[in-house]
Amino acid sequence: MTIVYIGLGSNLSNTLNGQAQSPLQHIITAIQSLAEIQSTRMISASSLYKSKPVGPQDQDDYINAVVQLETELEPLALLDSLQAIENEHDRVRKKHWGPRTLDLDILMFGDETIKNDRLSIPHVEMANRSFVLVPLAEINSSCSIPGKGLVSDLLLDIGQDGMVILQ
Ligand code: ATP
Ligand code: CA
Ligand code: CA
Repeated sequence: MTIVYIGLGSNLSNTLNGQAQSPLQHIITAIQSLAEIQSTRMISASSLYKSKPVGPQDQDDYINAVVQLETELEPLALLDSLQAIENEHDRVRKKHWGPRTLDLDILMFGDETIKNDRLSIPHVEMANRSFVLVPLAEINSSCSIPGKGLVSDLLLDIGQDGMVILQ
């Protein structure tokens, strides 16, 4: 069993099975889908947050969250499951860091460091992103990122960056 953290993001609405899905709804249903991945158990989920986009600014605000899972899957099998969930939300890749219905990133996989064609773990940018660190600190205030240090220390450096918690 390995403890893993997944970062979720959405800033694009679409229609799923005939029903309009807002970014908030994409994140809520994605959290349910993460809890149903085979050989995997949901341990905790952060609050939902609103954040400003990184990269291109001509797109809507994002809804973000982080969840903690416990899994028996190998890293690439977990990535396959996450990409299958993204596909269920009709994730279409247009421009780099452009709008998306759902983005699921593996932030950490136990204390492992992984670098191959499909995976970089810990997630390369996570230490620079308040939309990752703020929800991560909420569910694990003493969290440490392999090679990067304590989340609480990193947050002191980069700040909350206009993140708004949704009640
Ligand atoms: P960013 O990586 O900066 O958050 P992004 O999430 O928009 O950007 P995607 O288009 O969703 O990037 O993913 C591109 C590829 O990144 C995926 O196909 C996947 O193979 C790879 N990847 C590498 N490391 C990870 C990781 N830790 N979690 C998820 N995907 C990863
Ligand atoms: Ca991402
Ligand atoms: Ca991604």
